[in-house]
Amino acid sequence: MKKTIILLTLMIAVISCSQDKKNALMENDLSNNPFLKESTLPYHAPDFTKIQNKHFKPALVEAMKQQSNAVNLIIENDEKTTFENTILALEKSGEMLDRVANVFNSLTAANTNDTLKKVESEIAPLKAKHYDEIYLNDKLFAKVKDIYTNRDSLNLDAESFKLVENYYEKFTIAGANLSKEDKVALKNINEQLASLSTTFNQTLLDANEAATIEIHDVKKLAGLSKEQIENIKDKTKENTWRLTITNTTQQSQLQYLEDREVRKQLFEAGWNRTNAGKYDTKELVTKMVELRAQKSKLLGFDNFASWRLQNTMAKNPQTVLDLFAKLVPAATLKAKNEIGEIQKMINSQGKTFELEPWDWNFYAEKVRKAKYDLDESEIKPYFELNTVLEKGVFYAAQKLYGITFKKRTDIPTYQDDVVTYELFEEDGTPLGLFYGDYYARSSKSGGAWMDNFVTQSTLYNKKPVIYNVMNIAKPAEGEPTYLSFDEVETMFHEFGHALHGFFASQHYPSLSGTAVARDFVEFPSQFNEHWALNSIILDNYALNYKTGAKIPQELITKIKNSGSFNQGYSLIEVLAASNLDMLWHTISADTKITDVNKFETGALNSVHLLMKEVPTRYSSTYFAHIFSGDYYAGYYSYLWTEVLSHDAFDYFTEHGGLTRKNGQRYRDMVLSRGNTLELEKMYKDFRGSAPKIEPMIKARGLN
Ligand SMILES: [Zn+2]
Repeated sequence: MKKTIILLTLMIAVISCSQDKKNALMENDLSNNPFLKESTLPYHAPDFTKIQNKHFKPALVEAMKQQSNAVNLIIENDEKTTFENTILALEKSGEMLDRVANVFNSLTAANTNDTLKKVESEIAPLKAKHYDEIYLNDKLFAKVKDIYTNRDSLNLDAESFKLVENYYEKFTIAGANLSKEDKVALKNINEQLASLSTTFNQTLLDANEAATIEIHDVKKLAGLSKEQIENIKDKTKENTWRLTITNTTQQSQLQYLEDREVRKQLFEAGWNRTNAGKYDTKELVTKMVELRAQKSKLLGFDNFASWRLQNTMAKNPQTVLDLFAKLVPAATLKAKNEIGEIQKMINSQGKTFELEPWDWNFYAEKVRKAKYDLDESEIKPYFELNTVLEKGVFYAAQKLYGITFKKRTDIPTYQDDVVTYELFEEDGTPLGLFYGDYYARSSKSGGAWMDNFVTQSTLYNKKPVIYNVMNIAKPAEGEPTYLSFDEVETMFHEFGHALHGFFASQHYPSLSGTAVARDFVEFPSQFNEHWALNSIILDNYALNYKTGAKIPQELITKIKNSGSFNQGYSLIEVLAASNLDMLWHTISADTKITDVNKFETGALNSVHLLMKEVPTRYSSTYFAHIFSGDYYAGYYSYLWTEVLSHDAFDYFTEHGGLTRKNGQRYRDMVLSRGNTLELEKMYKDFRGSAPKIEPMIKARGLN
């Protein structure tokens, strides 16, 4: 059955190819393609005055061709195999592909359109095939293996030594050690997975849009502020407002909406968005987890997670499941307390219904107010976007690492809302270029992220060009953008990733900055969140936008105290999603999934995380991180690195807190090291001991 579908798709592709031959020729025109050459802008920043949608596909195809040619030269080289003519040549082979893909990936996530979506689905299988042709090439692998086997006698510097190990690992992880037959099977699986993942992503984006709820009676929006109501008004239709869906299970407006029916409707629209009908992703999920299990079997592993975790800090799924199991009892106890408090609040308002997930945020906010007297609207005037960025996020980086920032208005961007800054070292040496793309729009995926336009490397003499993306609601024209404290923390978080990229000091781009294992990469970002509540930093940035007054101490205390509020809920929802991810990816190759929803319920039940009031942060059918992103068997990383981040912050606290000395040590021993060291050792050397779980438990108020 599956094979027929694949054959059919191929045939359709071939037919449309011949019909569109003329169009295809024009499409592949490379003249004036800005990606052919390095950008001449400062830091080789992408020149968005020249880049157009039509440039991507031909540039991507050409870049893959260039890499294939370079790889062929390596293979055909008859001279004695050396580090330079094999490993270094490989490292250099993808220069153009990185240049195009870095821009393409940023736009498909942050500012997509129909053309880019189309290119994305056309390129996905080509890309998978392209990498397979490199990493599954016998002759190439023989050369890499030769260098790897003799690496001790080659007099390599430490970073080159690590580069050899990394390439060897990449080849073996891709299946280079497999028989010819198995390699063909693996290629086939990889191509299918790439297509399925693209389809999942696009189905989910469409589903999110389709799940929008139209409201025709403004009374039903009671609880939302005037501004919020104005923001969701359909400007083209009278008496129409739109409640839109975010990527998580809980929806942001649920905290405000007083009408319980509307809350339920909105929650269910999110929960069921991909569970039936046109946007049903259950078949995609089934195919992907089964294919991944088969893939791991081919590669000689019991399950996909075991294969996937081999080069991470955790190293195997059991270590991860053990960490989860340690956290579940404390989180459950706390969540049960929270359920009790919220139910009491519901009853105290004369209501008799039983708490449901769509009530949680609405009543939790009331409990929070009663318990901590903390009203989000009371603190918002102190967190204006630009002030938080420049006087908070940037200021913390200046205090810790000595770096300074200068706004640039001459660097072209892909969207008018994007802001750019240049960064300098303490002594004035240019450090890199930063872009902030903070406002939500329909062309942007949900969530927040960081990535590079240009990766630091001394091989190419390049300094980093880095961007942060968030989804903050844009206020009405001329109004200030106030952030919730969550958004403030997210801004610090994303800039923590940025610092990891800016302080990279590698020779080779593939080992540079954030190119570390998934379960380490969220450590610098989560660590950076801690400075949002540091008193020196707060004094500098938490200023009332209208009066300039500092945030009152009393409010800070409330924010700090309320930090442990709702932690049962938030830990359970993340633990549930993390376990789901791990359990989907520890099935054996002969497992047949017959019912996705049943599997999900069973999986959560088996780890004691099936709580009616506290649903998983993502249900399987819209779990984009693992079915269209690259967090598959990797969602645990958030919790794993949370442990690291609290433990590392304890180091700072023990040694005088926010000081240049502490910052420098952390920069020297962690942030600047990229992927050049064994991660567990890197961490231990910095901390002086292995990471401990207690600081995180304490920070979440679970002790
Ligand atoms: Zn992150």
